[in-house]
Amino acid sequence: MSKYLITIGLETHVHLKTCTKMFCGCSTEFGSEPNTNVCPVCLGYPGALPVMNREAVKQCVIAGLMLGCEINHISTFDRKNYFYPDMSKNYQTTQQELPLCVGGGVTIDTPAGARLIRIHHIHQEEDAGKIIHYARHSGVDFNRCGMPLMEIVSEPDLTSPDEAMAYLHNLRQILVYAGVSECNLEEGNMRSDVNISVRPEGQAELGTRVEIKNMNTFKGIHAALKYEIERQLYVVRSGGRLVQETRRWESELGETQPMRTKENAHDYRYFPEPDLVPVVLSKDTVEEWRSALPELPAARRERMVREYNIPEYDAGVLADEKPNADFFEAAAAICGEAKILSNWFMTDVMCLISESGLTIEQCALTPGALAGLISLVTQGVINGPTAKELLPELFRQGGDPTALVESRGLAQVSDCGALQSYVDEVFAAHGRSVADFLAGKKAAAGFLTGQVMKLSQGKADPKVVNQMIAKKFAELS
Ligand code: ZN
Ligand code: MN
Repeated sequence: MSKYLITIGLETHVHLKTCTKMFCGCSTEFGSEPNTNVCPVCLGYPGALPVMNREAVKQCVIAGLMLGCEINHISTFDRKNYFYPDMSKNYQTTQQELPLCVGGGVTIDTPAGARLIRIHHIHQEEDAGKIIHYARHSGVDFNRCGMPLMEIVSEPDLTSPDEAMAYLHNLRQILVYAGVSECNLEEGNMRSDVNISVRPEGQAELGTRVEIKNMNTFKGIHAALKYEIERQLYVVRSGGRLVQETRRWESELGETQPMRTKENAHDYRYFPEPDLVPVVLSKDTVEEWRSALPELPAARRERMVREYNIPEYDAGVLADEKPNADFFEAAAAICGEAKILSNWFMTDVMCLISESGLTIEQCALTPGALAGLISLVTQGVINGPTAKELLPELFRQGGDPTALVESRGLAQVSDCGALQSYVDEVFAAHGRSVADFLAGKKAAAGFLTGQVMKLSQGKADPKVVNQMIAKKFAELS
């Protein structure tokens, strides 16, 4: 079978984190009652005039700078004309001729090494509303109309679904670090259209392109790409011809289905938006924003290794999600035990995060509470197992670990007098294990330690118990 090359390009729409919409003062809050965050501008009433949101421009420029783009000092808006019930204006205000950012890219790791996936440009545009289908009718919610978006258009540099995932993961990470979007996939903050084509090896021009629209989960995008590549390869290998079209990913069926044959840009009759003046950015403004750029993920990983003396691996895991890195750093500032903290975070806390489906920002655990809990262990006030029992409660209900330990009498017993009586009691009750140990079965000591821990209701310091048991055996033998 002849070999085919796969080409994938992504157009990713990202909601910017502004308080108000792109061209009007309506709130961008998610989850409001349908059609409550609307006004004549975002509904497209005759005579209503748009005013550009300065903060949206700034955030898009910051994203562009963090992605290595050139910033156009003059950029303009255009109308993209089409009818769809979720857009009462009958056109989308977007940028076609002179987008705000051009060039740049996202570096991904591939089995063959790091590679730059180039960005063609980033333009600004407004979102459309949302159609909700009920059993016997459909409704339109215009709250999302006019929400500020940036559309990040990649070059067709991706060659597999895995590479597309790596690109989206790293892109999302940079945008979250940039502070310009929550990139919350469930809330539709980040949605991608993918373009896919296949062509025989050796052929220079790209094959016929198929676009799959508006996907908002990474898993869905991966599955859709995988399916679509297989489908296209099947068509070309069996001698068929692909048509340029837009397809829809049907996640329940696990397949893509034709939506419409692909329209070309000229079908939209783009023309310059007459109601908006060009956005003019001075060099000084852009440089001022550049000088205040947040840290990139890679820089943060390096700094965390340096500052907290933790392994690169730890820094990579912690910095993967910005809120986790923020939490870790806040807790480390309080308790100082960075490596112990990092171990706790990467195992126990992350386990709770994945079990609960909550993020570190949504759960009740605070950096102060985790730092406090770890300090209680390192100071010997409670033992590790007690701390591990308290953590889920702090995660779900919150609270102060010191107060919990006090009110429940969980402080560990390291008073030798009290412990000695437990040890003596255990030796008397488990003569068999004592004999086993003396006969060379060293594992019996562990059993005896466990029995002492049980008698102390888990409050004994296991280290002290071990020492006392060893001492008692030394006396016996
Ligand atoms: Zn409005
Ligand atoms: Mn778009």
